Amino acid sequence: MLDLQSTELQKLKVEDLMIPAEKVAHVQSLNPLEHALLVLVKTGYSAVPVISGNFQFEGIVSKTMIIDSILGIERFEVEKLSQHTVKDVMEKNIPTLKRDDDFLKGLKLVINHPFVCVVGENGTFDGILTRRVILKRFNRYVHENKQISSS
Ligand code: AMP
Repeated sequence: MLDLQSTELQKLKVEDLMIPAEKVAHVQSLNPLEHALLVLVKTGYSAVPVISGNFQFEGIVSKTMIIDSILGIERFEVEKLSQHTVKDVMEKNIPTLKRDDDFLKGLKLVINHPFVCVVGENGTFDGILTRRVILKRFNRYVHENKQISSS
């Protein structure tokens, strides 16, 4: 039986696993939707963080949010892509993590979110914790401990 509370997983901090801000594709809240959609399509990500001009975390924006916002009654109103900005459609009400939160808090949050943004005390965007990184680390732990218990 795996005891997660007393293992090295419990000692792991979000900062040990997060992708740092400089490696994260992001958009700014004042960017036109056109730019955000281009970033999302080119990177292949379904959603990315939204950051202010002075690197404060503001929310996330996804392809679905943008496409929903231009859906008219009979057609996609593509002209809205240049008329509206990211702040008109982004999601602000989402959970975030701090660098010193532990692995288990991250594990719980990625059940419902493919990635969670890591935010500093003063609201700065520090990076993201992804579902892939959490699952990879958890998979390693399960395999290492399986070997120990069967040897
Ligand atoms: P993954 O768990 O690696 O599939 O990533 C889950 C989600 O996290 C992706 O669909 C993206 O929305 C986001 N993501 C992962 N890596 C990055 C990155 N380097 N820059 C921006 N967003 C990312």
